[in-house]
Amino acid sequence: MTLEIKSLNVSIGNIPILRDVSLTVPSGQMFGLIGHNGAGKTTLMRAIMGLLEADDGSITFDGKDLRKTADFGRAKGGISYMPEDRRLIPSLTVEENILLPAWANGIADARERLEWVYDLLPEIAQFRARRALQLSGGQQKLVALGRALMPGRKLLLLDEPFEGVAPVLSRRLSEVISNLGSSGLCVLISESDDTHSADLVTGSYRIERGTVSPSATQFA
Ligand code: ATP
Repeated sequence: MTLEIKSLNVSIGNIPILRDVSLTVPSGQMFGLIGHNGAGKTTLMRAIMGLLEADDGSITFDGKDLRKTADFGRAKGGISYMPEDRRLIPSLTVEENILLPAWANGIADARERLEWVYDLLPEIAQFRARRALQLSGGQQKLVALGRALMPGRKLLLLDEPFEGVAPVLSRRLSEVISNLGSSGLCVLISESDDTHSADLVTGSYRIERGTVSPSATQFA
């Protein structure tokens, strides 16, 4: 279950944003995607999820051509994305926020998966009935991670998960992400520098002005 991107070009409007991007995240490994604001990290993750259409190039996961798979098909296939800005619906409860995308994607065993998420993140089970707007930014990140894990048991894309999170919650997030990595999930984590991700990943790619370094820096 390897993520393989080859010669990917993505434009927004007529503006080229990603240029000739190639990278590989081998099966069961965690890799970093490190780059400054505006480098193209979110654009790459949105292209992998099918939220942005690529101009050309290929994105394959587990041998499947993702560019030929609808975005809901990617979610059903176990690929999930935690956006940087969390995108929780403030007036809904924590539990509703977690369940909503699973219902929208027709995931049949949503309740069972929810229990698995609560086992992994018991702290969010404690505030399941609270409205999202009542949570701190860090708590919302944990909820967004829980929501991303509902369909995602194969490939997880984490867009700047540590951004704006207080140190105590950052440590907790690292712990959860590290546990997920040990369970064989393929994970791509973006960060503006490698402060938090270096301890988690086996290697990382640098992205600068839409171009990704040809080979990953290896940590392990
Ligand atoms: P950040 O953390 O600031 O989001 P990033 O590395 O994730 O940084 P992207 O959000 O992918 O970067 O943005 C890459 C480039 O694409 C930036 O120059 C940005 O201005 C541009 N861009 C992103 N979205 C749009 C959009 N909807 N319309 C026009 N340009 C966009």
